[in-house]
Amino acid sequence: MKIAIYPGSFDPITYGHLDILKNAAGIFDKVIIAVAHNDAKSGFLSIEERVELIKKSITDIENAEVDSFDGLTIEYAKKRGANVLIRGLRAVSDFEFEMQLSQTNSALCDDIKTVFLTTKPKYNFISSSTIKEIYTNGGDISKFVPKAVDEYLSKRIVS
Ligand code: ADP
Repeated sequence: MKIAIYPGSFDPITYGHLDILKNAAGIFDKVIIAVAHNDAKSGFLSIEERVELIKKSITDIENAEVDSFDGLTIEYAKKRGANVLIRGLRAVSDFEFEMQLSQTNSALCDDIKTVFLTTKPKYNFISSSTIKEIYTNGGDISKFVPKAVDEYLSKRIVS
């Protein structure tokens, strides 16, 4: 069984993430979308909120599930019996960082391979940080995020 982990911040999940996840789910037997606790990035939503919103957004993808993890992605992947990490590429600017990350992970554990996927062009430009920017300035994010995220954020009080 080929199990893939799709790790990231997902703060919040967007249609870009969802498209990558659907593509991965078409290739692998099981895909675990895993929210990373990341001390370097201050969170907009809590880990629990992100997991809950992902859960509501992936109900139509039968072989996908959501989880969260602490520590090294590679250790989490081993624990879950996964042999593939999924990462998305938007632009050349993503490449340098992603290349370095995948090579670091290969050096830590050569049995786990990183697979890069891209989205449909219409989702390519979407990023969680842009969503946060639009949302905190009162803009409409419904075109960029799953319905569950839009509904949840529209009820949330911006502090
Ligand atoms: P991280 O903090 O790990 O970069 P993100 O939630 O920002 O977490 O992104 C998770 C993964 O999804 C990354 O590999 C990122 O490049 C990819 N990704 C995010 N948005 C898109 C998009 N619109 N198109 C392609 N890949 C994307």
